[in-house]
Amino acid sequence: KCIRSLSSLRYEDLQITLTSSPSSKPDDSKLKFGAHTADHMLEVDWSAQYGWGVPQIKPVAPLQIHPAAKVLHYAAELFEGMKAYRCVDGKIRMFRPTENMKRMGKTAQRSALPDFDQAEFLKCIKKLISIDHEWVPQSKNCSLYVRPTFIGTEPALGVTASNMAKLFVITGPVGPYFPTGLKPVSLLADPKYVRAWPGGCGGYKMGSNYAPTVAIQSQAVNKYGCQQVLWLYGEDHQMTEVGTMNLFVYWVNEQGEEELITPPLETGLILPGVTRKSLLELSREWNEFKVSEQTMTMKSFIKALNEGRVKEVFGAGTACVVCPVSKILYLDQELLIKTDTENSLTQRFFSEITDIHYYRKPHPWMEAI
Ligand code: PMP
Repeated sequence: KCIRSLSSLRYEDLQITLTSSPSSKPDDSKLKFGAHTADHMLEVDWSAQYGWGVPQIKPVAPLQIHPAAKVLHYAAELFEGMKAYRCVDGKIRMFRPTENMKRMGKTAQRSALPDFDQAEFLKCIKKLISIDHEWVPQSKNCSLYVRPTFIGTEPALGVTASNMAKLFVITGPVGPYFPTGLKPVSLLADPKYVRAWPGGCGGYKMGSNYAPTVAIQSQAVNKYGCQQVLWLYGEDHQMTEVGTMNLFVYWVNEQGEEELITPPLETGLILPGVTRKSLLELSREWNEFKVSEQTMTMKSFIKALNEGRVKEVFGAGTACVVCPVSKILYLDQELLIKTDTENSLTQRFFSEITDIHYYRKPHPWMEAI
């Protein structure tokens, strides 16, 4: 009997081919999100027959995919988003990348894509960043965005687990979300549309969660003049997420206590954001106000707003860190929220997290590449 063990993904197998025609790097002041890709990519294939192949770093090039590949028909795709920063001591560090690896592993499981060695994969990603280190912006409000992606590539129609898959990573420099300080945004909250539901996949970072949101986001902008969508869920219109950010409400609760509230993870309605987790950990460490992971409905929010108990509302995510909310358009009502950004909790979180990103405040959350 022949027992063959499948190979795992190993950093020591990594093969590197450098580009012979490096692209010119954009000016930090002209960076637009998603517009630039660094010179190299990481790619590694998997098959049910052999396991993981040899990871390769090579010049960015189009992928060759069979037209019957599962990803092109049944959206067998997932991704991550994280950043590397050029810190004040000149070293390049990533913010909590192990958290993104864990989330990626969980999403892979839910997507019927194979397991991979997260630590070995992260070592390969760090090597990719060090090869393209010149692409990590110098400015202390810019960073290198890192996009690991995982797709099912088996060239066979039929809704089954893909027996072939590809992991790849591209990176690119990105500018500040708010070039001139935090700018509050307005939200469209239309209960007609739902992003996620119990038992669904809202808690995972799969591409199929995002495509259906784009038309609603466009409607929010073009029809209602709002900047983002506030996603509601259920008969009681629970507030879940702000566009692609986790939602935070800082208020005085019914008991008169100052409290920071963010929706809970257990319902499966929201993505477990790394920024969300970090803000919860920071504020629990500060221990200055109550911190709760709890459902908030539009009814209790509006009541609090009318009673003057809502102090701040903001979104939180990798792109912006935090994003203040000044208005919610809900069933023809314009709900206005105070945004005294100067002395706000939103601003405090922003300063604290960016001090950590650029190592002005050394913190174990930052990992050297
Ligand atoms: N919610 C959704 C739907 C998202 O796409 C993101 C961005 N990954 C977030 C929340 C924030 O997550 P993170 O803090 O890990 O960027």
